[in-house]
Amino acid sequence: MVWPADYHMHTPLCHHATGQPTEYAARAVALGIKEIGFSDHSPMPQDDFDEWRMYFSKLDQYVADVRQAQKDHPQLTIKLALEVDYLPGQEDWIRKLARLHSWDYFIGSVHYISNSWAIDSPSKISEWKKHDPFEVWSIYFDRLTAAAESGLFEIIGHADLPKKFGIYPKQDCTPLFERFLKAAAKNNVAMELNTAGLRKDCKEIYPSQQIVQMARQHGVAITFGSDAHAPKEVGMNFTEAIELARSVGYTHYRRFTQRQMEAVPI
Ligand SMILES: [Zn+2]
Ligand SMILES: [Zn+2]
Repeated sequence: MVWPADYHMHTPLCHHATGQPTEYAARAVALGIKEIGFSDHSPMPQDDFDEWRMYFSKLDQYVADVRQAQKDHPQLTIKLALEVDYLPGQEDWIRKLARLHSWDYFIGSVHYISNSWAIDSPSKISEWKKHDPFEVWSIYFDRLTAAAESGLFEIIGHADLPKKFGIYPKQDCTPLFERFLKAAAKNNVAMELNTAGLRKDCKEIYPSQQIVQMARQHGVAITFGSDAHAPKEVGMNFTEAIELARSVGYTHYRRFTQRQMEAVPI
């Protein structure tokens, strides 16, 4: 198979992934993947914000580890990126991060719907019992739409993350998706097809077939990501992701070099 680039993978610096970048790269080479990108969880202004991201002081180490993987695997194109948490008010911090290295792209992800609740966090799953799912999905998509409008990101990550634990609102969320996708199209931001959802309770790719189909209709570009937190997860379930993209009419995905985009046939 001809693999699209896998643009979403982590490193041990985020404290919940295993394997050095060079090991992820070796796995990609073994599979026949031609391009990957590291997009580890970005530092926050305070290192104690949570326990699942790299410390700011480790950012140079992160870049060095990715550069090492590039040296070890010259036959593989390896991009340098971050998965950046979008929280309203952190725009200046994100701009500061952007200036520190020559990044190829930023994935903008929403995990937090308040400063204290990351909706995908297994340790905070009890929070879901205290909230109406529709309220959670609404706030989440408000933030995702703001992320798409912020001009800070090339790609929006795992666009329907609130489904992770299989908790869905009774209400129709189509208007929430619509608003987000219009913003992504208008601001020329790509949306990733993230196969990690298949490994969670929701057992489907992020985002759903409905959203991918709507994205195609709105002219939103796509990327592919395994969200690998271990070398064996590189490229995982890409056959399904390619199938999903093609089934709604996608013919190309995007790659990025120093934050400039290019369309590549799937
Ligand atoms: Zn992670
Ligand atoms: Zn994420």
